[in-house]
Amino acid sequence: MNLSHRITGLTEGGSDGWDIFRKARRLRAEGIPVVDLTIGEHDKRTDPSILRAMYDAALGGHTGYASVPGTVDLRDAIAQRVAHRTGTATSRDNVIVTPGGQAALLAAHMAITDPGDRALYIDPYYATYPGTIRAAGGVAVPVPARADQGFQPDNSDILAACPARSLLINSPNNPTGVVYTQETLNQIARVVQEQDLWLISDEVYDTMIWDGEHLSPRSLPNMAERTLVVGSLSKSHAMTGSRLGWLVAPEPVIEHLSNLATHTNYGIPGFIQDAGLFALEQGNELEDMVAAPFQRRHGIVSAMFAANGVPVVPSWASMYLMVDIRQTGLSGERFAERLLDERRIAVMPGESFGAAAAGHLRIALTVDDDALATAIASLADFHTMLKKEAA
Ligand code: PMP
Repeated sequence: MNLSHRITGLTEGGSDGWDIFRKARRLRAEGIPVVDLTIGEHDKRTDPSILRAMYDAALGGHTGYASVPGTVDLRDAIAQRVAHRTGTATSRDNVIVTPGGQAALLAAHMAITDPGDRALYIDPYYATYPGTIRAAGGVAVPVPARADQGFQPDNSDILAACPARSLLINSPNNPTGVVYTQETLNQIARVVQEQDLWLISDEVYDTMIWDGEHLSPRSLPNMAERTLVVGSLSKSHAMTGSRLGWLVAPEPVIEHLSNLATHTNYGIPGFIQDAGLFALEQGNELEDMVAAPFQRRHGIVSAMFAANGVPVVPSWASMYLMVDIRQTGLSGERFAERLLDERRIAVMPGESFGAAAAGHLRIALTVDDDALATAIASLADFHTMLKKEAA
């Protein structure tokens, strides 16, 4: 029996880029200690106060079918948050609650992509992007953001990939930690208007910025009508397992996506939505508490790499740091393999996030400060050794 091309073609049969992650897990299962700096998951779990709100909501009876686009209270809270943070008028009719930002990424592409449409995304990218576009029937087209331009996308590269239906961007960026400048976002706004593209803006790291303010392209002139913003409580509130995210978009998009949700997930559990509402009502305090370790570790690790002559991609956001290992003459994949085999440290090869990040490593700052510092000292030493080997 044949399966659909939609399903079988999702990853185009290639590696999904997670080989190092799986090998690290396997080694650990065999009892071999490995410092795992691969995955973007907080070392501290969801705050107990949020879990208590979840428990209270469930015991209080919010266990039936919940409103499909999301509860009115949660959609209001998300709309207010977005309006407050970006200065752009936003109402509950601009919001649909989704099972995580990932489902919002799929919903966004489902809303605007016809079969065979070219859907652009900036490379380096979060690993699911091309598969998500293909799941919605689109043709996934990477647009490189270049290492020598600090991984800021350039309009000439976007233009070269047109015509297309949409462009997906992600700032603060996973994997690079780079935040797009106002100039970059202005340029992107210009090109998507000129080329009549939808813009999908993945902003799930918007609370993890260490310098400057988050700028949402939806707030730029004439952009709200063509921009779909992906948000999530996964990163901001350490709620990855609760699967709670949203899409902010023009009203007709939300109407149609509510219809799609009726025919797919049929809403998000009410007690999870209530916990999310509680989390948002806590304001900055909780978010700052969740973000603080990553900012601190970003500082520790940057200083250690600088002291040891390991080039780092200048960045000021997210849970990650990227290092440039091209001086060793190895690919990111080979370096990461050897680092795992010889030093028992697991990091993600840049290649896992697209061709534009080749020769780099993504380091997730997701273990405690002491363990992280020990691992980074070893990584820096390994880098020096490989550089000498290459000379
Ligand atoms: N976008 C980016 C850039 C991510 O890094 C992630 C998760 N790592 C997601 C979206 C999806 O997150 P979630 O579905 O947990 O909200």
